Amino acid sequence: MHDFDIIIIGSGICGAGLAAHLQDSKRILMLEMEPQPGFHSTGRSAALYIRSYGNVTIRALNELSLPFFNDPQVDSKEDESVLSQRGFLSICLHGQDEMFESFLQDNPILKEINVQQALELVPLLRPETFNRAVYEPEAYDIDVAGMHQRWLKQAAKNGCVLECQSEVLSLEKTTDGWVVDTGSKTYLTKTVVNSAGAWADAVAKLASITPVGLTPKRRSIIVTSLPDNCDSENWPLFCDAGDNWYAKPESGKLLISPADADPVPACDIYPDDMVIAEGIHRFESAVDLDVTRIENKWAGLRTFAPDNTPVVGFDPRSEGFFWLAGQGGYGIQTAPALSQIAADLLEGKSSHPELETALSPARFVDN
Ligand SMILES: Cc1cc2nc3c(=O)[nH]c(=O)nc-3n(C[C@H](O)[C@H](O)[C@H](O)COP(=O)(O)OP(=O)(O)OC[C@H]3O[C@@H](n4cnc5c(N)ncnc54)[C@H](O)[C@@H]3O)c2cc1C
Repeated sequence: MHDFDIIIIGSGICGAGLAAHLQDSKRILMLEMEPQPGFHSTGRSAALYIRSYGNVTIRALNELSLPFFNDPQVDSKEDESVLSQRGFLSICLHGQDEMFESFLQDNPILKEINVQQALELVPLLRPETFNRAVYEPEAYDIDVAGMHQRWLKQAAKNGCVLECQSEVLSLEKTTDGWVVDTGSKTYLTKTVVNSAGAWADAVAKLASITPVGLTPKRRSIIVTSLPDNCDSENWPLFCDAGDNWYAKPESGKLLISPADADPVPACDIYPDDMVIAEGIHRFESAVDLDVTRIENKWAGLRTFAPDNTPVVGFDPRSEGFFWLAGQGGYGIQTAPALSQIAADLLEGKSSHPELETALSPARFVDN
């Protein structure tokens, strides 16, 4: 049996980020069921950092993550930022005033702009459809693949071994530690980290631990072309206040999401054509653009805990079982902070006590 200090299940941005931040643990194994890391949610995101996005805990994690994004410090040859300026524009379509107002109240840092200023940012918008708008400059595109790759490299430098096509099929707690079985190999470890994304509750069940109640939700994206005379490069991400769609420029084309959030079982998810068609219809009613051709489309899973806050920390019910799950639609932009917090906890340090309490799986455990 192969012996490790820590076995991380899942090599998405969360597993990779954690392995890159573990400094004192030298024998780390990361097990990934797919042929390559990042195959699921991490490889399918919209790649955005929006400072004002998410609940209070998420926003604290966004703040903590920002310095890292600007200075990833993994390799001196690659120390440039993985962020590039994008900006974020939310428009209040007629009838969305209440939602728009509560978004503003929730985010006092946001600045309201008028309809004309919104049109200067995105000339595609139809002015008769909205009456208010808010713009946030602190929103960025993230080079997700670059960031993931840097963390995998740093993980390797930390001594982490990555094994793909290695699905964890059973987890058994013994007096010597956890016995982790992938069918072809068996491992022994004191600590198992559950960073299995949409499968994190299923992994808990393998360990005979009651799931915390994670819900994977499908989110779809399409890419379409823009008219030749459209200079979209500097457009911000733009969306409606009711969360019915969002769009952003992408290499001269336009990426559009119907902002779907349908609960589905954990799986290799594909977009639903009807959901896409309805989303395009909602989007088209606010812009001067006919989406005539879909050039690319995909879907991925955003996995939420019941309170929409990630689940990070040791499970109080089972020694050596650590959760790093439930990152919802914020898993990339919060990954620097969550990786550091998780690595500290695993190495016996407490760096952000208030956040650790808010993130702890203990909140789902009956006393
Ligand atoms: C369309 C879309 C847009 C998004 N946009 C954004 C955005 O703009 N900004 C943002 O911050 N976030 C965004 N997100 C959310 C973000 O992508 C996720 O929160 C993040 O990728 C979660 O990372 P993860 O490592 O937990 O999950 P994953 O990347 O899914 O990794 C989990 C891994 O665990 C592996 N695994 C599961 N079970 C086992 C097992 N039994 N044995 C071995 N391996 C296993 C899986 O194969 C998978 O590779 C978006 C998500 C989607 C779908």
